[in-house]
Amino acid sequence: MGGLFSDMSKFGIELDDDLEIFEEEKKASPGAAAAAGPVELKEEDFLLDKSVTCPLCDAPFKVKVVKNGKVKQIETDDVLRPVFKEMDANKYNVTVCTVCGYATLNNAFKPLPAAQAKLIKEKISANFNGSVFLTDDPTYSYDMAIERYKLALINSVVKKGKISERANLCLRAGWVVRGKRLSLKPDNPKFKAIEMDCLKQEDEFFKNALDGFVKATMTEDYPMCGMDDATVDFLITNLAVHFKKYDLASKTIARLLTSTTTNRRIKDKCYDLKEQVVAEIKKQKNQ
Ligand SMILES: [Zn+2]
Repeated sequence: MGGLFSDMSKFGIELDDDLEIFEEEKKASPGAAAAAGPVELKEEDFLLDKSVTCPLCDAPFKVKVVKNGKVKQIETDDVLRPVFKEMDANKYNVTVCTVCGYATLNNAFKPLPAAQAKLIKEKISANFNGSVFLTDDPTYSYDMAIERYKLALINSVVKKGKISERANLCLRAGWVVRGKRLSLKPDNPKFKAIEMDCLKQEDEFFKNALDGFVKATMTEDYPMCGMDDATVDFLITNLAVHFKKYDLASKTIARLLTSTTTNRRIKDKCYDLKEQVVAEIKKQKNQ
């Protein structure tokens, strides 16, 4: 995991070289879009600066959020990344306190239990340098958005947050990295290098998301990050297919298709995925 966190010293955060997203669980449980086409409105037209008071350090600060109901999701891709018509709203899902470094998903930015608050204060706030997160730009660049997700992920690791929370942050960080990759212009002189770098990071985030959600299904109760069991299984299925882990995908598909609580929409998609998985397994056997 070192690669994802290698540049955190610029936030004033010193991390152990061997920091791993799921380190704690290894010890604890051994068993265990880019905007499509030209649009007249600019990205900033869909955003507003929201004033927030930090529940950890009481400092006031501002965060850019997407205006309610202003952007339309047109589809999800193979790793369930929401693709929006007007702009990439995935960039704006993390709240960062630029004073103390407390960061998490917008809807989870709330007061922390005392033990977790202490950990964040000691391990993040103590030396935090928030200047990286201050900007006069009317939007967050992809790089800024990715840094915000990484800081949220570090917060979750440091405060020993739930595995599902870390998996969810990895998934969403991966979505934003993919958004960056798809927004790259081929005439950028560094196109190839940046694209390769994005692909590598995407892969690492999605792999951690898959591992984390699989672990979480064995140790946590539902709802998990606000998702019911069918939604989490469907997410695992899609990530498993993405990584060609067809045995895992077969298992979750079978579970989804036999469950009485899986909704019709997910079941229909599972039938399609099942066909694909069966064909791929056959292909592998014939090789
Ligand atoms: Zn704060």
